[in-house]
Amino acid sequence: MTELSTHQHGGLNRGRHVSIVGGGIGGLTCALAFARSGARVDVHEQAPEIGEVGAGIQITPNGARVFEALGLDGAAVEAASIKSKAVLPMDGLTGRQITRFDLTSLDGPAYRFYHRASLIGLLLDACRDAGVVIHLGSKITVDEVDGDLVVGAEGIHSQTRALLNGLQEPFFTGQVAWRAMVDAPDADAVARIWMAPNRHVVTYPLKGGLLNIVAVLERQQWAPEGWAHPDDAGNLRHVFRDGAPELKGILSKVDEVHLWGLFRHPVAEQWHNDTVAILGDAAHPTLPFLAQGANMAIEDAFVLSRCCDEAADIASALATYQADRKPRVSRAIDAANANARNYHLSGIRRGLSHTALKIIGKTAPNAFLNRMDWLYGCDVTTDRR
Ligand SMILES: Cc1cc2nc3c(=O)[nH]c(=O)nc-3n(C[C@H](O)[C@H](O)[C@H](O)COP(=O)(O)OP(=O)(O)OC[C@H]3O[C@@H](n4cnc5c(N)ncnc54)[C@H](O)[C@@H]3O)c2cc1C
Repeated sequence: MTELSTHQHGGLNRGRHVSIVGGGIGGLTCALAFARSGARVDVHEQAPEIGEVGAGIQITPNGARVFEALGLDGAAVEAASIKSKAVLPMDGLTGRQITRFDLTSLDGPAYRFYHRASLIGLLLDACRDAGVVIHLGSKITVDEVDGDLVVGAEGIHSQTRALLNGLQEPFFTGQVAWRAMVDAPDADAVARIWMAPNRHVVTYPLKGGLLNIVAVLERQQWAPEGWAHPDDAGNLRHVFRDGAPELKGILSKVDEVHLWGLFRHPVAEQWHNDTVAILGDAAHPTLPFLAQGANMAIEDAFVLSRCCDEAADIASALATYQADRKPRVSRAIDAANANARNYHLSGIRRGLSHTALKIIGKTAPNAFLNRMDWLYGCDVTTDRR
């Protein structure tokens, strides 16, 4: 385990009481960060068990640096995840690999693929070891709990966001996503992005010989009765019926699949009052096309804890937290929106974009990592930001 970064803090969290509403990735990381810096922490989760949807999640080096600083590294991380070697943009119609963005020369902790249940399990064990008290089946609002600080980490339906900003209904982004997992014991440790007009598929391996699949389609309507529901795998295969044989081979193995409408809010105007703050999807839900929603929640959690640890006055710490986080999160959301457009190009723009990617891959192999350095290279646990 690396030396915990609490030594860099001011130490003012010691003895404080922090209550967190929501035990997702953001809420649990926040709980761990405060507990590591000496606070007494309660987490309230509405579900009877802490859990996650059966799907994968990509934790990029910027998120992994926070985990390292909180002592989540080494054998436990190795056992729960796969280290990614590369991102491969693919032509989803022909199956041609357009280029290879190598990740092996990344500085610092690796880019990793986790099963969500394994990631939540790691966080939960670490929280319990650090003395965090977890209240299950506790559906509450921030008004109902005490604390020197109360954190709303309830995800996109956050009532705390509504308390701070007024009620804003999330809007449908015009994209739906199928999520599935299939057996693939020989899958290589890379993420493939299979791009096609108006749609794409991302595949990557998980521990246990599984391949995680997220397939996205632009669609105008979404059934109002729910946000996610089981779907017929035939509908997914139909959408990619003109896809590359390798892609169709993967989709032919899908048995169980869920369909999600992708909703979001604009980044919240106000992330705090004097004693209450929001983080993660509660403050800034994002499209998943840069794999940063959870990574940003993880960064938020660390920065919130550090700002409080360095300030005697919680209200001023929360203002510093918002000022620090809002520009970075907004940039990540803009970049995810741009990926949505770039992945789904059609006609001449699609051909031009693939050619450009190919040339860049050949002539400037480090261009991808250089372009992503603002994101992956950022270390919110130190001053490299
Ligand atoms: C298809 C898809 C793929 C994605 N892939 C990635 C990826 O690879 N990498 C990445 O970084 N991000 C990814 N994301 C985004 C990521 O899943 C989210 O951004 C992240 O889970 C948000 O975490 P959170 O803790 O803020 O909120 P949530 O995960 O929504 O957690 C909120 C928790 O609060 C609880 N809760 C809600 N209301 C209450 C209440 N009143 N009282 C008590 N508890 C309450 C909920 O039950 C839940 O447990 C993806 C998203 C999608 C849709």
